[in-house]
Amino acid sequence: MIRLHVEADLSAGASVEATEGQAHYLGGVMRRSIGDTVRLFNGRDGEWDSRIATLSRGKAGFTAATLVRPQAGDEDLWLMFAVLKRDTTDLVVQKATELGVSVLIPVFTERTNAGRVNLDRLRAIAIEASEQSERLTVPDIRPVRQLHDNLAEWPAGRSLFVALERADTQKLTPSSGPAGLLIGPEGGFGPRDLMVLDRCRFVRPISLGPRILRAETAAIAGLALLQASGCG
Ligand code: SAH
Repeated sequence: MIRLHVEADLSAGASVEATEGQAHYLGGVMRRSIGDTVRLFNGRDGEWDSRIATLSRGKAGFTAATLVRPQAGDEDLWLMFAVLKRDTTDLVVQKATELGVSVLIPVFTERTNAGRVNLDRLRAIAIEASEQSERLTVPDIRPVRQLHDNLAEWPAGRSLFVALERADTQKLTPSSGPAGLLIGPEGGFGPRDLMVLDRCRFVRPISLGPRILRAETAAIAGLALLQASGCG
């Protein structure tokens, strides 16, 4: 079953226009025709069995028919991560989306040596991963900022688990309440990063084991660990 994310409101009988990319995917790649069923979701109105109402070169339209899954309360787990090389950042966004992260916060740290972040590209990756993983929402991706700016505005009641390699940190204890995970860059956090982190009362350092993981591995493992501990 093809699942597509749309921006438009969904209700019985609603007409929804496809993007050019979706029209090409349906007609050119998947060889679908008018009358075929696809599933649509927009992050607000649940998931709808919908029919392809129009389909021609570069254009398609749907008619929403039946609600198959009502919108459900989402997980509430945030991931803040130092921007990595392009392919690795893409991977982190894809995997974090599959793992149910609700908010993705790319940051620059002392040792971040990646330049720009293409938010549109990251959002497209998150949409595709949401479609594929049967999520009913697409994670919110924040514009990239400095680590300390994000820490300054971090919500006081949300724990921030900071993954620290080679640190003598306590084992993760199950926590209730909202949480986030912070993963450092390939070069690790710098002394200035660690100083600001140390001053934040919501910070809780965690270890992901005795080996040094690549940042993307640490993100995936850390998210799974937090979820298994009841966070998010
Ligand atoms: N170059 C650094 C390692 C950085 S690993 C060094 O050699 O010291 C990249 C990021 O992954 C780290 O900033 C940390 O957030 C996370 N990480 C990697 N291994 C980890 C571990 N065993 N425990 C906790 N966090 C880890």
